[in-house]
Amino acid sequence: MTEAPRDFIGYGKDVPKVEWPNGARIAVNMVLNYEAGAEFNIMDGDPQRETSGDFYPHPLDQRSFGLESIFEYGSRAGVWRILRLLEEYGVQGTIFACGRAIERNPQAAREFTNLGHDLVGHGYRWEAHWDMAPEFERDQIRRTVQAVQEASGFRMRGWFCRYLRSFNTRRILMDEGFTFECTEFNDDLPYFVRVDGKPLCIVPYTLDNNDVRFFRGTLSTGEQFFQYLRDSFDILYREGATHPRMMSVGLHDRIIGRPGPAKGLQMFLEYARRFPDVWFARRTDIADFWTDRYGKELA
Ligand SMILES: [Zn+2]
Repeated sequence: MTEAPRDFIGYGKDVPKVEWPNGARIAVNMVLNYEAGAEFNIMDGDPQRETSGDFYPHPLDQRSFGLESIFEYGSRAGVWRILRLLEEYGVQGTIFACGRAIERNPQAAREFTNLGHDLVGHGYRWEAHWDMAPEFERDQIRRTVQAVQEASGFRMRGWFCRYLRSFNTRRILMDEGFTFECTEFNDDLPYFVRVDGKPLCIVPYTLDNNDVRFFRGTLSTGEQFFQYLRDSFDILYREGATHPRMMSVGLHDRIIGRPGPAKGLQMFLEYARRFPDVWFARRTDIADFWTDRYGKELA
């Protein structure tokens, strides 16, 4: 095992005075997780069915047509509602894409790129990278890149692990031409880490500005989601007057894509759109900007 140092300090007290494009005070990255069909399923040869989002007791070694159906709401209806809202408000964001989910809905895959969103690898399927042998992990990353490129035309350069990364993930990603990684929750700005002495841009993600909290029972209405996002936005925007920040928002088609919660997304887009100096940005653009502008200084 290689070392995996922890950094408790980061930028610390001396947060860099970032200059986002056009003097923006905040970079907002809306992330839609696209993963229906990438979850565990007996049908796909798994020993056990999916349990995330479970709502009925059901044997683990049997398909749950109910839970499958909840995932399918996302790929059939929810994804289109979210894409329409983002388009209506002129927002281009990021798709965290599972390879197998993308293969199963080529129509959605094409629409992601048609609308100008970027894609970031989210595993070939929901699988534990932390537990993979290096060669298998490399194969699965390549397989995801290929599946996404074939279905959407987009060549991914960023990655976010569903079940956390392994000691090898970042090394493999860099070998495979990736330029940024996102499996971190520890800052309001991108930063660089060193992998085998070379800098890799990290664009952190978040589980708090995230609709997954509906499934965890800590949010129940669209209005609550909006309020939470608005408060995050207000604080970051305020700080951004002197020290611009980044805000991630995590979305799932089977969760926020339902009409009730979707109202909260609509309210947030309406709200944030009213402010000047907000950069709604794709994750790839944030990583590219960060590397071009701050690569020499901070890496
Ligand atoms: Zn996800």
